[in-house]
Amino acid sequence: MLTQLIYRSRSTRSFSSADLAELVRAMTSRNRQLRVNGLLLFDGDYFLQVLEGTPAAVDGLYRTVCQDPRHTQIVLLLRDPIPTSRFADFRMNMLDVRDKAGAISGMGGPNWSGSMEAGWHRSHRSERIIEAFVCGRWRDARPALAWSPNAEVLQAGDPRRVDALVLPEPEFARFALQPIVHPRSKCITSFEALLRGPAGESPQSVLGAVGAAQLHAFDLHSKADAIALASALDLDCVLSVNLLPMSLVANSGAVEFLLQQCARHRWPADRLLVEITEEEAITHFDAFLGAVQMLRASGIQVAIDDFGAGHAGLSLLADFQPDKLKIDKRIIQGVSASGARQAIVRSVVEFCYCLGITVVAEGVESAEDWSWLQSAGVDRFQGFLFARPRLQGVAPITWPSSDPFASQVAPMATGALAA
Ligand code: C2E
Ligand code: MN
Ligand code: MN
Repeated sequence: MLTQLIYRSRSTRSFSSADLAELVRAMTSRNRQLRVNGLLLFDGDYFLQVLEGTPAAVDGLYRTVCQDPRHTQIVLLLRDPIPTSRFADFRMNMLDVRDKAGAISGMGGPNWSGSMEAGWHRSHRSERIIEAFVCGRWRDARPALAWSPNAEVLQAGDPRRVDALVLPEPEFARFALQPIVHPRSKCITSFEALLRGPAGESPQSVLGAVGAAQLHAFDLHSKADAIALASALDLDCVLSVNLLPMSLVANSGAVEFLLQQCARHRWPADRLLVEITEEEAITHFDAFLGAVQMLRASGIQVAIDDFGAGHAGLSLLADFQPDKLKIDKRIIQGVSASGARQAIVRSVVEFCYCLGITVVAEGVESAEDWSWLQSAGVDRFQGFLFARPRLQGVAPITWPSSDPFASQVAPMATGALAA
């Protein structure tokens, strides 16, 4: 079986044409031994390489590239089985795309743009990815940001020093709070309240232990405790709570209940946000939309949670635009090295920018993913990289050093910068 793999990388050094010729020579002889074919494109800054061979040979070469300090910003664009080699004739030839119309070096062969017009390239994704690269995609306009973390130390007078506070005894449930942060301004924009059992059990186990008949009432009523907690901690930002869409619909007067709890705990309604998962929302769309209109009429904001994890994300967004959209961690995690994830995030950022929707990246665990996301126009983050959820309290936050932002240049070509 043959595997085809395409990656993009950024070179850490400049190459003269003699350097490039030498590189191609070395690569061609190594790849001949491994029986790997392919193509190398270079634009003076970025490489795009196609590798074709046995899965072991191709994956081994890719691993070597990933560990090679001369490559940075390595992004996997394609890895698929193929019936026959598509680039066998190319061996490992080089195309300098600074001269897009030029012949592929060393082949004396077909003119690249001429070949494109002939249409043969349209037959396979690999050639269309090459075409996208030749036409200017897969270049990042900004340097990667360095993480250089600074762990926050809460001062004695900080209201988040919960050890000094007497917290209200919960009526229904406990909550862990996790911040959503805006690293550029070192601000906490909101806290998400995550349901917990008495000993910190997961939301699934708490909700699972509630009988089906009581589920939606419990889900709604437990939010009284989340609001009471945020108020007791005197949090100076938005409080996000999770609700099943049916908890808004099956409980008559659900929105009134939330407003009463806000009033009771002196929490402004416009600092409450309800997170709904898209999958559940779409299955009860009319009822969901009715409840959302009532929330909005009372100033409570609405977020789509776990965007991209469900089935109908885009069709839901076509009919309903939330205040906030939280991109699911399965899309976020690994984004810095995954071409597919990058293309998805870029289009979500652009969509949300145009429609005034705030984007949050969820489940950010690695500095590389944060750096890529920040450069792509995502400004708000939730994840273990910054802070873990803390039961009935708030954990200190780890911030990037402020230096990385100083070196930033103009926005990316999309211009998409969510506020
Ligand atoms: P969610 O609303 O997407 O909440 C975020 C989940 O991701 C939380 O899990 C949080 O602990 C976890 N998380 C945060 N940062 C990271 C990270 O960097 N890496 C990883 N791997 N995970 C991270 P948790 O607390 O177990 O909650 C799971 C889900 O349970 C929530 O997902 C939400 O859908 C649901 N849930 C939580 N509280 C409630 C509630 O009061 N009512 C209802 N109906 N559902 C709730
Ligand atoms: Mn949530
Ligand atoms: Mn989520």
